[in-house]
Amino acid sequence: MGVYAVTGSASGMGRAVADKLRAAGHTVIGVDVKEADVVADLSTDSGRQRAVREVLAAVNGRLDGAVLAAGLGPGPGKDRPRVIAQVNYFGVVDLLEGWRSALAASASAKVVVFSSNSTTTTPAVPRRTVRALLGGDADKAVKSVRLFGRGASAIMYAGSKIAVSRWIRRTAVRGDWAGAGIRLNALAPGAIMTPLLEEQLSNPTESKAVRAFPVPVGGFGDAGQLGDWAVFMLSDAADFLCGSVVFVDGGSDAYFRPDAWPRPVPLTRIATYLFRFVRFRR
Ligand code: NAD
Repeated sequence: MGVYAVTGSASGMGRAVADKLRAAGHTVIGVDVKEADVVADLSTDSGRQRAVREVLAAVNGRLDGAVLAAGLGPGPGKDRPRVIAQVNYFGVVDLLEGWRSALAASASAKVVVFSSNSTTTTPAVPRRTVRALLGGDADKAVKSVRLFGRGASAIMYAGSKIAVSRWIRRTAVRGDWAGAGIRLNALAPGAIMTPLLEEQLSNPTESKAVRAFPVPVGGFGDAGQLGDWAVFMLSDAADFLCGSVVFVDGGSDAYFRPDAWPRPVPLTRIATYLFRFVRFRR
């Protein structure tokens, strides 16, 4: 039986994963701002440090996996874009960097991060928002979405999920992650019926937009089913899964971008490998 850290364990999909892992006999250290084994506010630097420290202490330096589900969606309030950036991006990256050696101490650790299909279905997300987050500059990211006014939190939400997905793809393949036996992947849900979505549906304007959004299979997704996907991505079946962003979104991404992906690798990217190959053959 394994030992897992699950953030966002008090509600929605994080709770579904934690319940399923516990029911299967695993040990789960839940992290959340409320009702959790480790109560920590991931929107602050000190809260993230506490989450890193207290989980490491609880698991005796070895983690078989982690699920990063804590997050918040678009919503009202001037400070919302900043909190979204802090929780959805730094609440993943800072924790995983802090837990990396504990994950490497397990024979085959698996990590699942909750991204979103807003990564590919939200238009006009500025590149500089994503660049600022990947560069560790939350203030710059917040400034970059100000011109969107009331739409700023939706843009930051998508930007935070793009940045975290890119961080996963860049990091997953590195020697200190893939090479250390850690499998790092993301799950990108569409609209799933959880308190996060309920908050959006309680706002008449947002509710209209959510309900009008094209979902080819219709309706909303189920938190328990997304929990099953995460548990599957933590299992041995995912030994060969590395740096993938798995969309479980009722077809919205495919609807908007049928031909956007897969695409051949750009020549510039492959040139280094071809060069090495030619040198090796000589
Ligand atoms: P939820 O609101 O039910 O659960 C989110 C959890 O995160 C809550 O328990 C909350 O307390 C915790 N959290 C929020 N702010 C925190 C903070 N500052 N510190 C610590 N914990 C904090 O939401 P959910 O729908 O289950 O979402 C889970 C993940 O899936 C999120 O990352 C969300 O962005 C993502 N997602 C959700 C949907 C959806 O439609 N529900 C779609 C795509 C992606």
